[in-house]
Amino acid sequence: MPFLLVLSSPSGGGKTTIAKMLLQARDDLGYSVSATTRRIRPGEQDGRDYHFLSRNEFTRRQRAGEFLEWATYGGELYGTLRSEIDAVLASGRSAVLDIDVQGARQIRTTFPNSLHLFVLPPSAKVLVQRLRGRKTEAPEVLRERIARAADELAVVAEYDFAILNEELAVAVSQVAAILEAEARRVSRQETLPEFIDQLRSDVADAASRLARR
Ligand code: 5GP
Repeated sequence: MPFLLVLSSPSGGGKTTIAKMLLQARDDLGYSVSATTRRIRPGEQDGRDYHFLSRNEFTRRQRAGEFLEWATYGGELYGTLRSEIDAVLASGRSAVLDIDVQGARQIRTTFPNSLHLFVLPPSAKVLVQRLRGRKTEAPEVLRERIARAADELAVVAEYDFAILNEELAVAVSQVAAILEAEARRVSRQETLPEFIDQLRSDVADAASRLARR
């Protein structure tokens, strides 16, 4: 049964890269493209990485009830569109949401069965290096994001799993292993009751045939 996979981490923690690698490797997942008012970065594409909206357009859609959740991050608005989630789930795939901790809380309330993963950087040094290395943030924004990371790390206990992103390939395979396990969770197997009913009846038949011999 398709579900929502929420990935959170401090900025620079690696969740977006992990999400991209998972989506490339698996066809049972679809990306929920968020909407945001922040400026597009070099290399990003409108409609693929985000739906880049003006503040007016974002708030208009907010009022129209188009968001499942939304949050403010670094003075900009970010939100998950209902239409994105509906489209991914309707295609029979699970939806990957790359969202912050405030958004994750709102999703948990609306979708109690969602699976929440927190991606941890191995150290503060690596986190700062990664954020600096991508050269996408002005020094002030960078400082703000690092300060915010300390607060975000305080709520890891609200998540189902914590993944240490020391080595990208290892972290991706750990997320894949969690997905494999989750797909086998009894409550996520829609056709399981039907299969068990049939199996029980067949086993009972086999038992009575043996008893007649
Ligand atoms: P960035 O500007 O680096 O792309 O994202 C900043 C933060 O906003 C990240 O923690 C990212 O996960 C989060 N974010 C991205 N999209 C959404 C969204 O739709 N909702 C919420 N709540 N957070 C989002």
